[in-house]
Amino acid sequence: MSVNYVARPWENRLFRQCRRAWDLGARERQDYERIEPAQVFDLGEAIHDALDVYYFPGMWDWNRAIVRPLAVAGFEKSMRRQRDAYTQTRELSADQVQDWEEHLELGTGMLQRYFEWASDVDRFTPIQVASQFDIALPDPADPDSGLITADGRPLQFRVRIDLVVIDDHELYWLVEHRIVTGPQWPELDQLRLDEQALTRSWAWQLGFLADLEGTIHNEMRAAVPAAGKPKVHVRAVPGAGGITTQRATESFRRTHIPRAKLEIARHGVAVALEIQDMTDPALRMYPNPSWDNCSTCAYRAPCLAITQGIDERPILDASYRKRVSGDFELGRLGSVWGFVPEIHRVAEYRAPGAGQ
Ligand code: SF4
Repeated sequence: MSVNYVARPWENRLFRQCRRAWDLGARERQDYERIEPAQVFDLGEAIHDALDVYYFPGMWDWNRAIVRPLAVAGFEKSMRRQRDAYTQTRELSADQVQDWEEHLELGTGMLQRYFEWASDVDRFTPIQVASQFDIALPDPADPDSGLITADGRPLQFRVRIDLVVIDDHELYWLVEHRIVTGPQWPELDQLRLDEQALTRSWAWQLGFLADLEGTIHNEMRAAVPAAGKPKVHVRAVPGAGGITTQRATESFRRTHIPRAKLEIARHGVAVALEIQDMTDPALRMYPNPSWDNCSTCAYRAPCLAITQGIDERPILDASYRKRVSGDFELGRLGSVWGFVPEIHRVAEYRAPGAGQ
């Protein structure tokens, strides 16, 4: 146990969904993870890995014709890494092999089309990609003081962002990449209320002592588009922070949402209050079963045992382990920034596409 209590946005989400799942999985709680991955691959993770290479600040000045194949190689490497982790102790079925190969082809095509589209709409310069940083959590009742737990541990929040860019007017924007699988794009209000984007924005502002102009939601549809030249739809909608602009084709959508200072600050207060709830010694622990939560829950087997009054320990011992890796996976592209107790940078960089 470290001196500080470290919370992470994924733990807040788990806490909100189901306290039992949070208790089993959060690092400051029982800290269990599955020994074997539940799925062969996650297309979104592999696309994120490719975009981390594409928007790597150190290569932004490079000819895009050189960077594109590196980004595609990053995607392929991620797909292989995930498949290899899954097959460490088991074989893939013929259907799984076919599914992996089809998604490898789908992802490669998505990226090639995205690079064409993005060359027209990327009117910014990336300054951080896949960065992880820590902030001391401010006390909502006294923002000049940091929060501490009841037993005196300073509360720290560990956040990872996709991308931060600076535009032609020298304004900072936080970019969120999203893979969309359904036929419809999410409602604009879903993007406005995007809890992850707001949490990351609030933390980034605190960590880097700079204001964000807003959030950019960069959505990619995981599908092969209809043949022919894509139609472009553009719209502008007034909002609290300014004019929201949106540019979309069948395959890609980019939405710029200017954010009011108050909106981000209020979200930060909610995050801090929630973490105070999570660390309250009087916290009540109960499960929150619903098929929305349970169908994808990593802790369904031990949870069922607990609910049925069966000892869950044999299940945890056989299929789970205490987490073995840190928050930041060494060898993956990105950087780690520390702000506690003073600003310093400990970066782990790896040449994109290396070591395949
Ligand atoms: S299976 Fe459902 S109720 Fe059980 S821990 Fe998971 S989300 Fe909670």
